[in-house]
Amino acid sequence: MSQQMGNQPLIVLSEESQRTSGKDAQSMNVTAGKAVAESVRTTLGPKGMDKMLVDSSGSVVVTNDGVTILDEMDIEHPAANMVVEVAQTQEDEVGDGTTTAVVIAGELLSKAEELLDQDIHATILAQGYRQAAEEAKAALEETAIDVDTDDTETLEGVARTAMTGKGAESAKDQLASLIVQAVRSVADEETVDTDNVQVETVVGGSIDESELVEGVIVGKERVHDNMPQLKQDANIALLDTGIEVPETELDTEVNVTDPDQLQQFLDQEEEQLREMVDQIIDAGADVVISQKGIDDMAQHYLAEEGILAVRRAKNSDTQALARATGGRVVSNIEDITEGDLGFAGTVAERELGGDEKLFVEDVDDARAVSLVLRGGTEHVVDEVERAIEDALGVVASTLDDGKVLTGGGAPETALSLRLRDFADSVGGREQLAVEAFADAIDVVPRTLAENAGLDPIDSLVELRSQHDAGNTTVGLDADAGTVGDLEGEAVEPLSVKTQAIESATEAAVMLLRIDDVIAAGDLKGGSGDDDGDDAPGGPGGPGGMGGMGGGMGGMGGMGGAM
Ligand code: ADP
Ligand code: MG
Repeated sequence: MSQQMGNQPLIVLSEESQRTSGKDAQSMNVTAGKAVAESVRTTLGPKGMDKMLVDSSGSVVVTNDGVTILDEMDIEHPAANMVVEVAQTQEDEVGDGTTTAVVIAGELLSKAEELLDQDIHATILAQGYRQAAEEAKAALEETAIDVDTDDTETLEGVARTAMTGKGAESAKDQLASLIVQAVRSVADEETVDTDNVQVETVVGGSIDESELVEGVIVGKERVHDNMPQLKQDANIALLDTGIEVPETELDTEVNVTDPDQLQQFLDQEEEQLREMVDQIIDAGADVVISQKGIDDMAQHYLAEEGILAVRRAKNSDTQALARATGGRVVSNIEDITEGDLGFAGTVAERELGGDEKLFVEDVDDARAVSLVLRGGTEHVVDEVERAIEDALGVVASTLDDGKVLTGGGAPETALSLRLRDFADSVGGREQLAVEAFADAIDVVPRTLAENAGLDPIDSLVELRSQHDAGNTTVGLDADAGTVGDLEGEAVEPLSVKTQAIESATEAAVMLLRIDDVIAAGDLKGGSGDDDGDDAPGGPGGPGGMGGMGGGMGGMGGMGGAM
């Protein structure tokens, strides 16, 4: 990269680096962002399509979940990744609305592009978008309604709405009820930590046989048949280490010259194992949960003492147990003391879905529940699990901020109308940006209509006239295939909508403000080539996205065909 300075070219960047500036940089970033949004658009809403994602090792994920799709797609373009981050933020903050947030971000970029072409400066656009987002959030707050923590009906409605269109259809009511119970039982006055709700999946059986278990389920059976299957009032040792003698280093040779010596060597190992087990016994443990192995000899000693032990427990299970039983995960057996042990009223091995698992129940002050999710096949169970995670997130968010609104495109329709009014009060060039924002928000009802097989234009016209007439809960009733009142049908936490607006705006503004992209190497996907072919492409196949655009275009086609 060189620039003229007098007659001498001034070299400021290395040969390999690539630079895209000004309009080209903006257009490249807008195209990348739009492509990401386009790739998840057909999955939005109750009638959205699913995607089948196959990774390089051939493993298959079938999903409708925005953030999962984007994660699995393994996107490398830096600008595209900033839009993917919108989905991740949404997932972390509120647990649902990931597709919505990404679709809005894409449309904000798309509308911005039109204004950039009319020589409206990106700074003006950014200001206008920020103003519009503030106004939108205020408007959402006004329309939201308060929910009491004991309003089971509304909370179940929130859970059902989050699961709509995600493979849980047949058992939605029952799952919604389990989810609300689960979130309630882990909630305390201040916070709700859904990490304390474990979802344990079982392939086999049907979804409506799913159930809630108070406590933590460890997906392992006891290590030795002579161990008890039940321990009451159990003190539990949690280990992230094994009960094994460390393997002899490869390069140490043990020369055994006579049988006595060998015996001595083995005795020594036994002695070490015996000591470890004694340490655990001295601490007062009745149950041992180890994340690593337990040597045969140690198993035998533990069984003799009537201790119930499992090995190779998942890290997430031991963490959950630590929270639930008040125990501490110990890394060094020598250090274990009584104070490290957790407590549970019952620890029992039971059969679940054909496998023996350890149920740790009756944990008094700490809160933990496990939702046992059953389903016909692994893919079904996995997708329902993602739906449940979303639902847990929205119920928790609702308990957190206590406000909900009617979804299904109703809030976005109201916002778009309100922002058009607001634009008049803004004036100047920012007014154009606010209007563009209002147009962009319409992408939600428009996409919901398209995905439900409705005419998007007729639907938008009908929606606007209903909202003008004051029917603020009218949206796209996908089941009925009409525009209709969705009060009580589609219930979403306020935070899902405000967060979607906030993170979509932030990402769009950030991308628009970039007018120079300097990459140390080749930009993955070949964006920013100087051959000028990176003008915005058609849906699913934008020119500048190179390999990625092709891949996503293919996927879009697949979604449509199914
Ligand atoms: P996201 O990843 O954004 O949550 P979804 O595919 O879950 O995407 O779709 C969410 C959209 O579907 C929201 O606008 C929500 O209001 C709408 N929706 C959910 N349930 C219903 C329903 N029963 N009727 C109409 N719209 C619904
Ligand atoms: Mg959702």
